[in-house]
Amino acid sequence: MTESINNFINGKWVQAMSGKRFPSLNPADSRDVIARVADSDVRDVNAAVKAARLAFPSWSNLPAPKRGEMLYRAAEIMVKRKKVLGTLVTREMGKILPEGLGDVQEAIDMTYYMAGEGRRLCGETVPSELPNKDAKSMRVPMGVCGLITPWNFPIAIPSWKITPALIAGNTVVFKPAEETPVCATRFVEILEEAGVPHGVINLVHGFGETVGDPLVRHPDVDAIAFTGSNEVGSQIAGICGSLQKHFMMETGGKNPIIIMDDADMDLAIEGALWGGFGTSGQRCTAASRLIVHKKVCDRLIKQFKKRAACLIVGNGQEQKTQMGPMVNEAQYQKALNYIDIGKKEGARLILGGKGTKRGNCAYGNFIEPTIFVDVTPAMRIAREEIFGPVVSILKVNNLREAIKIANDISFGLSAAIYSRDVNKTAVFERDMDAGLIYINASTIGAEIQLPFGGTKKTGLGPRDAGGRGGALDHYTKWKVIYRDFSGHLQKAQID
Ligand code: NAD
Repeated sequence: MTESINNFINGKWVQAMSGKRFPSLNPADSRDVIARVADSDVRDVNAAVKAARLAFPSWSNLPAPKRGEMLYRAAEIMVKRKKVLGTLVTREMGKILPEGLGDVQEAIDMTYYMAGEGRRLCGETVPSELPNKDAKSMRVPMGVCGLITPWNFPIAIPSWKITPALIAGNTVVFKPAEETPVCATRFVEILEEAGVPHGVINLVHGFGETVGDPLVRHPDVDAIAFTGSNEVGSQIAGICGSLQKHFMMETGGKNPIIIMDDADMDLAIEGALWGGFGTSGQRCTAASRLIVHKKVCDRLIKQFKKRAACLIVGNGQEQKTQMGPMVNEAQYQKALNYIDIGKKEGARLILGGKGTKRGNCAYGNFIEPTIFVDVTPAMRIAREEIFGPVVSILKVNNLREAIKIANDISFGLSAAIYSRDVNKTAVFERDMDAGLIYINASTIGAEIQLPFGGTKKTGLGPRDAGGRGGALDHYTKWKVIYRDFSGHLQKAQID
């Protein structure tokens, strides 16, 4: 029987006020209707924000280590359910099972990490310039946070946002992607089970215009965190700017791997395959450009094509599958459209280029691993995010040209180099303008204990995930406290 998925507002699982529902479909097999999901609107958003506001005083006054204990319990529950959750990620989002499990593991790591932050929400204590006076700063919560997430990491990305928001003492209204509502629901159920009180975490399902937009505009929401497309992110940035609302976003990427003539070629090819075709290219950190030194370019193309041609495309729940489907028909059409653009621009298609709607793949949104060569930096397939299994190969004369091309786009999320020359990798590390730099590793593989995000149009505001300069900078504001115990008026800068 198809499951009914509800909103979670003020500690209760409730239908959308519209009474309507939308389906959540398995991208590998559209006959598999996973759930019918609450199709919410502004009324549900208002109820959730009200609940979050009411819950804020007691939650923010609860000692942070106590909040941490709840997150720790949530992480423990996730460890026990990892297999079930990972299988659900694969069924609802489409990525292959090892990656589905990885999605859950990332959420486990993040939740443990933020549980620990409950004892480390440090500020500064500094000497005052005056006698008998203290000076310190402390982090305090923002208030009610609206969190809007995409479908490609349906448990990990919610954890990047929800756990730092909660540990810092905020209450939350969470609007997950409409493609992966069941994954979002399972994560919130775990927080409920771990003891997070009523109203602290609220979940409202639905679409961008009907749920996301009213959440962003709601006057009682203090901060918005968004991960998704650059188009939607910049639209929300404008709204938050005009409302003077605290905002952070992580959006797209067009991530390069530079392969130098002295690279370990086998290693580079492994990295390019994983970066280009892992998650069917539907990662913000996907390696969609290979920028290859002319001396090794032909060899690289030959071997890379040979390996990519052997990738087994199919339902991610089957053990042999190495690449799953596009998440939905729109994403499928978008990738095919870019393949068409590439051909029209004059790039040479040497592998794939088509949807595969036959056999095991008859009811899903599958695309063959696709490779273009003779790509020039000005082509759209070399500049725009495709978010599909499409890799463009560009040939260069030297490292300087490679870095110039790698940088000459509007995104700056992730970038990698394969070279055995330490001096070359050091130059790349210094001159590459991206938030995540990999040396002799693919563009994929961030760990949660460091900030995640990018430069230029990839991001705005503080980063996701952990570490200094990570998510806590978005979910807290600074309060500075001076305590004068001299018993007389002291004037800073004057006495
Ligand atoms: P999307 O922008 O279409 O949707 C993201 C979320 O925003 C969804 O929950 C959606 O319902 C909501 N939304 C849509 N319109 C809205 C509106 N007007 N107001 C408020 N909310 C609205 O993106 P997507 O297709 O779900 O995700 C793919 C994109 O996400 C890619 O561009 C990818 O690069 C990016 N992404 C970035 C990162 C990162 O950390 N940089 C990570 C994962 C995905």
